[in-house]
Amino acid sequence: MATEEEKQTVFDVEAANMLTKELRDVFASGKTRSYEWRISQLKSMIKMCDEHEEDIVDALHQDLSKPKLESIVFEITMLKNSCTLAIKELKQWMMPEKAKTSLLTFPSSAEIVPEPLGVVLIISAWNYPFLLSLDPLVGAIAAGDAMVLKPSEFSPATSSLLAKLLPEYLDISSIKVVEGAVSETSALLEQKWDKIFYTGNGIVGRIVMAAAAKHLTPVVLELGGKSPVVVDSGIDLQIATRRIIAGKWGCNNGQACISPDYIITTKDCADKLVDSLKKELETFYGKNPLESKDLSRIVNSKHFSRLTKLLDEDKVSRKIVYGGERDEANLKISPTILVDVPCDSLIMKEEIFGPLLPILIVSKIEDSFDMINSGTKPLAAYLFTNNKKLKEQFVVSVSAGGVVINDIAMHVIILL
Ligand code: NAD
Repeated sequence: MATEEEKQTVFDVEAANMLTKELRDVFASGKTRSYEWRISQLKSMIKMCDEHEEDIVDALHQDLSKPKLESIVFEITMLKNSCTLAIKELKQWMMPEKAKTSLLTFPSSAEIVPEPLGVVLIISAWNYPFLLSLDPLVGAIAAGDAMVLKPSEFSPATSSLLAKLLPEYLDISSIKVVEGAVSETSALLEQKWDKIFYTGNGIVGRIVMAAAAKHLTPVVLELGGKSPVVVDSGIDLQIATRRIIAGKWGCNNGQACISPDYIITTKDCADKLVDSLKKELETFYGKNPLESKDLSRIVNSKHFSRLTKLLDEDKVSRKIVYGGERDEANLKISPTILVDVPCDSLIMKEEIFGPLLPILIVSKIEDSFDMINSGTKPLAAYLFTNNKKLKEQFVVSVSAGGVVINDIAMHVIILL
């Protein structure tokens, strides 16, 4: 039988229903619509980052062994930049926009008036658990919505820090945090929302979309995919490999949605590329990367086993040319390179989301286009080349969420 304390902490459909009712009342009061409310929340979020930088870095270290530099640059600073941008642009975003009228309606005038959607649900993932939880919150605050944040249960230290800090810095009547896993998220998904913002894998994305469809709720699904890197010959290999390493292992040890998933190159280039990757990896992470403080660990044992299963498939394990070391007790896997991996292997069938990097070989570099387009659309596609014609062909022929030439992941810091 549940104790009194356990009874109080159960978050079920009834609790979710009460929570959304409460938020609807607050939203209806108009409190979240004012410019002043929105600005005060955004400024408070920056203050929270400044006053608790060490706590945030600690929580991310507990959840992922995330190196301090990565936490500061990719989680805290990126969030503060979003807040600063929203503060700077908010007046403009809230302003009605003049719309053209026609001769038929002369002498009328018309305008498009931005309005908040209402009460929104944000479900976030574990890999950048601070940024991915709060960045969508910045958008919802700037839009004047009331909201619930459900952080990932796979990053429990960051989840509990968010549950503690948000009520201290933000307006608790209109911004709520619900911690929990599948049952809590399912209870939330039973409710009617005005928008659902979900970050995570496509399987759960389908569950979210089906729940939203019942109420015709609009959704944003921030999903993943297999992001290729095409490496042409005749480039500065040292620069290219350093950028690939920074984008793959330097971003949460490969556990990032736009991290390079696999490389495609030609036979004449493959050996030189592997040599350069080996040399530069040693410069980045030393002779024993499992001991390096600059590499995140794998988030949990479920993902550790998933990754080792990909690596242990017979036709794949023979293809390891660098790395492959693992430390199960500390959930660490070293940067691992595999060459000439068969396309029908498990590692090529799902998003890797970890430190393994297969290299596929094609006879001519243009063959990479069909190879990429034959799979599901990647979140990002990268090309290293000095050939102007190839760059143009790549942009036209490869369909991806974002395309970057001669670098990795840089598109996420371009302000649109
Ligand atoms: P996760 O396991 O943390 O799950 C995400 C959220 O879904 C969590 O809050 C979790 O509680 C909830 N959830 C899990 N199972 C559920 C269920 N059955 N019903 C309802 N809710 C459920 O994260 P994940 O899915 O492992 O995240 C990794 C994926 O996210 C990768 O595919 C990655 O590429 C993608 N991703 C995308 C972006 C982006 O911006 N596009 C950013 C980060 C991660």
